[in-house]
Amino acid sequence: MSEPAKSVKVALFGPGTVGTQVVRLLTEHATDLEQRVGAPIEIVGVYVRDTSAPRDAAIDPALLTSDAHTLIEDADLVVELMGGIEPARSYMLESIGAGAAVVTANKALLALHGPELFEAADANNVDFYFEAAVAGAIPIIRPVRESLAGDNVKRILGIVNGTTNYVLDEMTTRLLDYDVAVKQAQDLGYAEADPTADVEGHDAAAKAAILASLAFHQRVHLDDVYCEGISAITVADVAAATESGHVIKLLAIVERTAAGVSARVHPALVPLGHPLAGVHGAFNAVFVEAEAAGELMFYGQGAGGTPTASAVLGDIVSAARHIAQGGRGPRESHYADLPVLPIEASSSRFQLRMTVHDEPGVLAGIAATLAQRGVSIEAVRQKVAGADTGLATIVISTHRAPESDVAKVLDALRASDAVTEIRSVLRIEGE
Ligand code: NAP
Repeated sequence: MSEPAKSVKVALFGPGTVGTQVVRLLTEHATDLEQRVGAPIEIVGVYVRDTSAPRDAAIDPALLTSDAHTLIEDADLVVELMGGIEPARSYMLESIGAGAAVVTANKALLALHGPELFEAADANNVDFYFEAAVAGAIPIIRPVRESLAGDNVKRILGIVNGTTNYVLDEMTTRLLDYDVAVKQAQDLGYAEADPTADVEGHDAAAKAAILASLAFHQRVHLDDVYCEGISAITVADVAAATESGHVIKLLAIVERTAAGVSARVHPALVPLGHPLAGVHGAFNAVFVEAEAAGELMFYGQGAGGTPTASAVLGDIVSAARHIAQGGRGPRESHYADLPVLPIEASSSRFQLRMTVHDEPGVLAGIAATLAQRGVSIEAVRQKVAGADTGLATIVISTHRAPESDVAKVLDALRASDAVTEIRSVLRIEGE
């Protein structure tokens, strides 16, 4: 008779929203997971700061420990779900150094210290997986890192932050003011008490850095990502977007052009016919354009304990299979050495909405201001602001133009006596 397979010893750090569900699913599905891995998965400990604090019933109190170092020594695989930079970074490096595979969902840490962790994993020949770090339950890391490894990714457009998508969707479909929509998101648990990281685009920027690094086989740091949030978006912007056949979405955009690669996060006008326009509520979606594959769309829940735990479990099973049966997951691929371009070097279509004096010649003057700076107009709409105001609203959509030229146009329009206010400047994406 053959020997029973040795168990794969798993340590979990951070039994919070996601970690608790990971422990629950590992426990409830133990029999199936053993078949899929080829060995039992044994949870050898759960690291916490305070072993006496009350925990979810899914966590066996006997597994709790505040001795991180002994737990790491005992483990074949460490699952980091604490979040934050330290002590998560140090514990991951210690785990890798001790020969354990690491699974994490920590986008902030990856965007800042990814290369250090990848290098440590390669030097120690252990797996390092992070599917849940971008877009929660949606499988996007593995498709970009493995399934598309033979193709050339040209561009990725992602709705990768559920909070901002919820807020913008409520503003669009129910015409709620921004503050009211944010408060509603907080009441429903979609937004943190301090929503800054979500609404200012920082969370999406970390994900953009991760996606760009994987898609372009190149290291792209968080500092390389241009970031603009949604806190300046008004109901008037949303209504104007609807009028022009668009919807406003916060997009993470990573792109490769002849000049180099770029990563940016900003609100954008997405045409109503584009698949990303139909992503409602707190859902996430990632739209990939690859040279040979063409267009691909990934859609699903970008957050939540159980959906995110699904992605973490996929990584645990992959790493555990390698521990039980041999082999290793993909190493970091960063051979490409293309310039990482600043936002000034990128081009987009723009929609400019402004209030002007309703007088003869104003429109012609504005058109000339754009033309003189090399920005070509695709469409213009003009609306009188109201009886006796003497003002009108002009909405100009441009053809694709370099950011630097549009910045010069905006300077000139702000200095013009004919323009009383530039009400919004939004990039148009997905056309
Ligand atoms: P959470 O609910 O705040 O849980 C974090 C857990 O880590 C808590 O148990 C906390 O313990 C523990 N912890 C935090 N700092 C610690 C420290 N310094 N030492 C020891 N323990 C510490 O967080 P979460 O929502 O589960 O998120 C976990 C990770 O998954 C993060 O990297 C997050 O970005 C990522 N993620 C989350 C979601 C989601 O929907 N929640 C989606 C995708 C990715 P205490 O209880 O003692 O504070």
